Amino acid sequence: MRRLILYVLLLALLGGCAAPVDPDTARESIQVLAMDTAMLITTYGERSVPAAYACEDTIRDLEAQFSRTDPDSAVSRLNNAGGESVEVEEDLGRLILIANTYHQWTNGALDISIAPVASAWGFTEDSFRVPSQEELEELLRLKGRPQFSTPGIVTSVSLSPGQSIDLGAIAKGYAADKILEVLQEYEVPRANISLGGNVLAYGGRPDGTPWRVGIQDPARAENPNAFAGVLNLTDSFAVTSGGYQRFFEENGEHYHHIIDPATGYPADSGLVSVTVVADCALPEYPGTMCDALSTALFVMGEEQALDFWRFWKSSKTPFELVLITEDGRVVVTEGLVDRFTQEEGSGYDYETVS
Ligand code: AMP
Ligand code: MG
Repeated sequence: MRRLILYVLLLALLGGCAAPVDPDTARESIQVLAMDTAMLITTYGERSVPAAYACEDTIRDLEAQFSRTDPDSAVSRLNNAGGESVEVEEDLGRLILIANTYHQWTNGALDISIAPVASAWGFTEDSFRVPSQEELEELLRLKGRPQFSTPGIVTSVSLSPGQSIDLGAIAKGYAADKILEVLQEYEVPRANISLGGNVLAYGGRPDGTPWRVGIQDPARAENPNAFAGVLNLTDSFAVTSGGYQRFFEENGEHYHHIIDPATGYPADSGLVSVTVVADCALPEYPGTMCDALSTALFVMGEEQALDFWRFWKSSKTPFELVLITEDGRVVVTEGLVDRFTQEEGSGYDYETVS
């Protein structure tokens, strides 16, 4: 009888205690459909489950502010305010401020006020068409940086009448920056966050090796596992912009979603994709920087992009690049050489630049 009681007690004890969690293997992986993208969030460690769902909450909160297609979003309120000043939450105010700064630094290549032009091409609502030259010229007149009502305070923003903004070029990068804060708050030892072209490789893989981040081969875009090269990354953001990511064809012409604000046409710079890589421990929203620059350097083209990279190298937020050119070259900046693996048999010529 005593033995039976002991046995029952032991069972109750075992049932009551959860098995100890191995922080190296405990893992949660969730898919989130947001910002027009299928996102994949994989977190590790004892708090992997709440951390993954906190990442999802962050994405949903930002989408509710930044979406251009949700009529209730803060961006929609701003776009529909007819030139009146609108109170915005901290994240939106900060992101518009960052966008203004990169607009200046990239000499207008990044321009969130390109929204009416992007809409005219149908990229916002998936109703593709080729606008006339006159229509584009008319819409290009609406370009201009959003204004903050009180200098230095970013909670009240106004646009000119007729103007609207589109944060599609930077919103996911900003979401990646905010997710980094969540991972740190939950003391997640490692994570792999993929926000559709925006990757955060946090820590390394459980076996101690870097995360492997494939760079999509633009020539085989229909196959998501066809790579032009692989980046081996720890604690880094990697963001790719490409003309193959969203496009339509009409009369044999390929029209993609990255607009050259100087012409109103899809950028025709000789590049087919731009990947920007930066250390995630850098100050000043490095994920947003990668996203802003992937779009802007795509517009600028190879020569200007590399000049920009050289100029930026000695700043406190340096980055590295992988450019894929229309004429079949993969150009890798020197800081990535040890972290980039060429794809055998891809047909590309690989170059390193300094
Ligand atoms: P990304 O994939 O980060 O390069 O962003 C492309 C998206 O940003 C497009 O789908 C448009 O919504 C928007 N966009 C296109 N061209 C520009 C531009 N030159 N500056 C800012 N946003 C742009
Ligand atoms: Mg971008």
